[in-house]
Amino acid sequence: MSTTIIHHPSQIDFDKPGKTHYRMAFPLDSGWGSSLVPITIINGYRAGKVSATPRGLAAFGGTHGNEWEGQVAVKRLCQELDPAEISGKIILMPQLSESACAANQRISPLDGVNMNRAFPGNARGTISYRIADFVKRYIFPQVRVVVDIHAGGREGGFALCTSFHPVPDPAQFDEIAKVASLFDLPFQLIYSSQMASGLLTDEAEAEGKIAIGGEFGFGEGVNRKGVLHAFEGIRNILKHYDMLSGEILKIDQARPSLPRLVDARNIEDYIPCPRPGIWEPLVDLGDEVKHGQLVGRLHDFSDHTAEPLELRAHQDGVLIMMCAAASCQQGLTLYVIARDASIANK
Ligand SMILES: [Zn+2]
Repeated sequence: MSTTIIHHPSQIDFDKPGKTHYRMAFPLDSGWGSSLVPITIINGYRAGKVSATPRGLAAFGGTHGNEWEGQVAVKRLCQELDPAEISGKIILMPQLSESACAANQRISPLDGVNMNRAFPGNARGTISYRIADFVKRYIFPQVRVVVDIHAGGREGGFALCTSFHPVPDPAQFDEIAKVASLFDLPFQLIYSSQMASGLLTDEAEAEGKIAIGGEFGFGEGVNRKGVLHAFEGIRNILKHYDMLSGEILKIDQARPSLPRLVDARNIEDYIPCPRPGIWEPLVDLGDEVKHGQLVGRLHDFSDHTAEPLELRAHQDGVLIMMCAAASCQQGLTLYVIARDASIANK
């Protein structure tokens, strides 16, 4: 497959029938050269059912460079989606922060900026802000559904989940929750808007789009199930909107139930590590915990005779995220306990 290197968004023909591969050159801040960010645009040949809403989907991987499941799954979609089976427009960006991906780092080594805190972007900012600005001004207007595939990287372990914020519009929230369930992961996490700002999905949901994130693995590896659910989940979303022919796939045949909706919208559910130490977990990711239950012990090896600090669950719920490394620094999120939720009590 050939890709065309372009230097300005006006060189992208967003309506060209079929499948076109580009690499968009974003000039470096530090010298001569560019970060070549891959983009594939598909305008399907298949006549779909008539729809009142414009159909378009954008899927991103590599917003954080050391999270690989989305990069692998979206790259595979670039290769395998056949315009003959597609109705509507699909935009695929497997390595949004290309420089971070090339370096296997969370943030771009070029400007030290976290792409997932750089939105809405800045056309005159450093490279990460310029890429965010490109997404905001040129990609988002083309689509209604936005999917950003993440993983834990080195930040922490996650029970495999899709994630989205508690957006105020009930119809938008219900559609986001429904579409997120098509990834068929064990959990759907409603997470706190207070944790961070400037997220890609923040910007998309503020524009009223169906915006879905998720954690498809961790540890800078490639989680087999994470890739499967990312790849087939995006295909399921396309089928849901009649953008791709075929039946919606039950991805996890071993789990008959729907994904479990859990809620960690409160910032108090994100437990900061109270002091530096070595974390000894006593429960596993995805486990049920009860209020007062011992979640883990924090050890201080400067005095091997010292009692460890015991951390106990502040509420009943599911351990959805936890520090994956032994060493945890003061202030970093040690774990998150999410409560059961239902669409009815959102
Ligand atoms: Zn991430």
